Amino acid sequence: MSSEQLSYPEKIDIRNCEKEPIHLIGKAQAHGVILAVDPKTFKIIQASENTLKFFGISHKVLLNDGLESLIGKAAFEKITTAIDQKTGFKAEELKIGNKHFIVLPHFSEDHLILDFEVLGEYWEPMFLQQQLTNIINGLDSNETIPNLCNTAAKLMKSIFGYDRVMVYRFDEEWNGEVVAEEKEEHLESWLDLHYPASDIPSQSRNLFLKHKVRIISDVNYEPVPISPYLSQITKKPLDLSKSTLRGVSPIHIEYLQNMKVGASLTAAIIVHGKLWGLIACHHYSAKFINYFQRETCKFLAQVFSNNIASIQTGIFNKKFSENSELRAKILADLKIENTLGEGLENAKIPFISLMENGGGAVVLDDEIKLFGKTPTEAEVKDLSDFLAENEEIIFYTKHLKNHFSAAENYKKSASGILSFKLGRANNNFIIWFRPEVAETVSWGGNPNKKLTYNEEKQRLSPRKSFEKWTEKLDGISNSWQDYDIETAKAFRENLNQCILKKQKEEISRLNQNLQEANKDLELFSYGISHDLRSPLRGINGYAQILKEDFSENLPAEALETIDTILKSSNRMEGIIDDILSFSKITGGELQKKNFSTKKLLQELLVSFNIKTNYPNFNIEIAENLPDTYGDRPMISQLWSNLLGNALKYTQQAPYPQIEIGSFSRENKNVFYIKDNGIGIAEHQKDQIFKMFSRFAKKDFKGTGIGLAIVARILEKHNGKIWVESEPEKGSTFFFHL
Ligand code: ADP
Repeated sequence: MSSEQLSYPEKIDIRNCEKEPIHLIGKAQAHGVILAVDPKTFKIIQASENTLKFFGISHKVLLNDGLESLIGKAAFEKITTAIDQKTGFKAEELKIGNKHFIVLPHFSEDHLILDFEVLGEYWEPMFLQQQLTNIINGLDSNETIPNLCNTAAKLMKSIFGYDRVMVYRFDEEWNGEVVAEEKEEHLESWLDLHYPASDIPSQSRNLFLKHKVRIISDVNYEPVPISPYLSQITKKPLDLSKSTLRGVSPIHIEYLQNMKVGASLTAAIIVHGKLWGLIACHHYSAKFINYFQRETCKFLAQVFSNNIASIQTGIFNKKFSENSELRAKILADLKIENTLGEGLENAKIPFISLMENGGGAVVLDDEIKLFGKTPTEAEVKDLSDFLAENEEIIFYTKHLKNHFSAAENYKKSASGILSFKLGRANNNFIIWFRPEVAETVSWGGNPNKKLTYNEEKQRLSPRKSFEKWTEKLDGISNSWQDYDIETAKAFRENLNQCILKKQKEEISRLNQNLQEANKDLELFSYGISHDLRSPLRGINGYAQILKEDFSENLPAEALETIDTILKSSNRMEGIIDDILSFSKITGGELQKKNFSTKKLLQELLVSFNIKTNYPNFNIEIAENLPDTYGDRPMISQLWSNLLGNALKYTQQAPYPQIEIGSFSRENKNVFYIKDNGIGIAEHQKDQIFKMFSRFAKKDFKGTGIGLAIVARILEKHNGKIWVESEPEKGSTFFFHL
C-alpha cells in the first residue's frame, strides 16, 4: 500500500486493484458503532452515523461531547488508566441506555478509536471452558495435516454454526485450495477447489496476518459513513485497519454476494510467521458472533496453527535427517583423486536420490553430466546460461517455463527445477529436475476472469460465476518442500567444502612440487658451477703454460689469442663464483645473531686491501653504526657486493668518495652506502637487482649477479633495498633488515 494513499479512491481499476486501500474505507459495518476520540481532550471527534440506532443519541449530538459522559465514569477510568499505565486495552462490557455493549479500544495514528458491539449471545464460563478443552483435545490428536484440517473444520462448524466451514491453504503463489470442508448437507461441496491469488489480495493477507480474525456479519449491509469523513487531527480518513467494525471492500462484498454468501468469519492460520491459510466460514444469511466467541475462534486458529507447525517441523526433521544420512554416504564416495563430476557420477548412491522423483545434472565448467530423466545436454547448457544470469544462488520453481520459456520443450521431464551455484564461479551448477504432473486442477470459477470493469458501478467487479472450472495442469511439477530446499543448501555447503579441500590439497601439492623443483635447480646450478671449475682450471692452466713456455715460438697473433682465452676463462671463473654464492644463499638456512657492523666493515676493508688497491679513495664510515641482527656471513657478502660496486663504479671519478652510515626510520635501522661514481639512470633502478642485468659500460667488469645476491639476502631477512641515484653524480644504496 502506498503511503501516499490518503483516502479511498473514487475509482478502483485494473491498474490499482491490488492497491485498493481497504483500511481507509471510511465506513463502518452496521452491527456496531465506531467512535474516534482525541486522546488529549477525550472529546468525540468522529462517529459512525448509526449512533442513534444503538445509543439513542444522534451522531451530530455526540460530536465534540466528552467520552466520559457517554460511557460513564467507571468505563472511562479503566480506559484512561490503561493509557496512563501503558498496560494495553482490555475489552470492556458496558451499558448505554438499556443496551449492553462490549467496547474495544485501540489507538490508530493519533486517535483513540472505540468499537462498540452489542454483547450478543452469552456463554457460561463452564460452556466456554468445555469448548476450549474440546478444541485442544480435538486438534492435538491428529498426526497428519489433512486430518488436522478436517478436525478443525468440524470443530469450527460445531462451535460457531456457520453453514460452510472451509480450510483454505495457500500455495507458493498465494493461490488457495480448499483442503477441508464441513458444510450443511444441501450445499454443493467446494472441497479441492482452487481460487486464484487475486481473490484474497496481498493487502487483505497482510491485515489477516496482523488481526487474525475478521467478521462480516451481514454481506448485504448498508455501509455506515463515518462523520466527519476526514479527521481533524490528521486531515485524512481514519485508518481503521485495527477496527473490528471496519467496513468491507465493495469488491469483496460483491465477490461474496456473487457467491450468495450472507455472512462470513475468517481466521488466519499463521505458521512460522507466514500466512499458511485461512479458516473461512460462510453463512447464507446474516450472522454475528460476538467478541468472546471470536476470541474462542482465535484460540482455535492458534492451536490449529501450532499443530500444523509441529507436524511440519516433524516432517521436516524426519526428511532432513534421512537426507543427511544419504548426503553423508554420497560425500564419502567423492574420492579426492576424482574430479567432482566424476565423483558424483561414480557415487554408489546417485545425488539425485536426495530429492523425490526426477533427474539431475552436474554442470562444471561447461562439462555437463546428466542423471536420470532430464532434458538434453544442449537444453541443459541453455538452461545453465539462464541460471548463470540469475543472481540467486539457489533457484527453484515448479513452473520453469514461466521463468524460462524454452522450458516448454522439455516440460515432461523438467517442469520443476531446484538448482544451486557451486563455489564462486557463475557457471557451475547442480540441478534437480521434476517432471510435469499429469493432473487437473479445479477452480472455483474461471480464474482467468478474475475481475471485470463494471461501468454501472464505475469500479472493478469480481467474477460472477463460481462454477467449477477444470484446468489441466500445464508445465507444473510437484512443489519443492522446505526440506528439499534445506537439503539442497546443506549439499551445496558440503560440496563447496569438498571443492575447497581439493583446492587446498592441490595447492599444497603444487607447492611441494615447486619446492622440490627449486631444490633440484639449486643443486643443479651448484653442481654444474662446481663441475665447471676443474675443466676451466685446465683451460686456464694450459693457456698459462702456452703463454709462459712457448711465447717465443708463437706469433704475436697467437699470443693475443692466448690472452683472450685467459681473460675469458678468468671472467668465467668470476661468473661461476657468483653463481655458487647465489646458490648457497638460496639454499642455505639463516643463522641469525647480533654482531658489530663496524667490525664487519673494517674486516672487509682489509680484505679489499683498500690502501694498496684504491689509494686515491676517501672512505668514511660513520662512528655510531648500530649492530646488526642477521646471518653474519650473508650480511658480510651483502656489504662486500655493495662496497665492491661502489669502488668499481667510482674508480674513474677525479676524487672518489664513499660514505657508509645509518639512520633510524619507523623503528628500523637503515644502512646506506653512498658514492660519487657513474650513477644509475632512472629506468634502470628496478632492473639492476635482477639476475644478469648489467648496465655499465664494457670497461667495468662484472657478471650482473652481485645485486641479485644482495636482493636475495635481504629477501631472506625480510628486509628491503632501494637506490637513489643521478647519472654522473653518484648513487646511494639503502637497505634495512
Ligand atoms: P655487476 O656489477 O657485476 O655488473 P651487479 O648486480 O652488482 O652486477 O650490478 C648490476 C648493475 O647495477 C651494474 O652492472 C651497474 O650497471 C649497476 N650498479 C650497481 N652498483 C652501482 C653503483 N654503485 N654505481 C653505479 N652503477 C651501479
